[in-house]
Amino acid sequence: MRVPTTGKECPYFYGDYHRGKHHEECRLIENSDPPWQIKHCKTCPVPDIVMANSCPHMILSGEIKKGFLGFGQKVKISAYCTKSHQVVEDPFVGCSECHPILNLFKEP
Ligand code: SF4
Repeated sequence: MRVPTTGKECPYFYGDYHRGKHHEECRLIENSDPPWQIKHCKTCPVPDIVMANSCPHMILSGEIKKGFLGFGQKVKISAYCTKSHQVVEDPFVGCSECHPILNLFKEP
């Protein structure tokens, strides 16, 4: 669903605006402390991650982190591959199990 404040498609966003309702939720970041608010979508990398990497084996999880001295909040995303059973360091790229990463600068 498209996030109204950013205009980006996010598979985890849900909004219900029918018949005067105004219910919005993030189905990736639930039971978070501090709780999720739609303002967090502005800095969330998930829409860009799912555009860059659609691997069906990669599971995303997210949490809201407070900034330095408690000021500011930011969405922190982590990823795990259920095929290679490892943490995905860069969710934009993936773990390289299914799609090997070409390193053009690597020595032969
Ligand atoms: S916080 Fe991120 S994952 Fe959650 S609805 Fe917003 S853009 Fe999507």
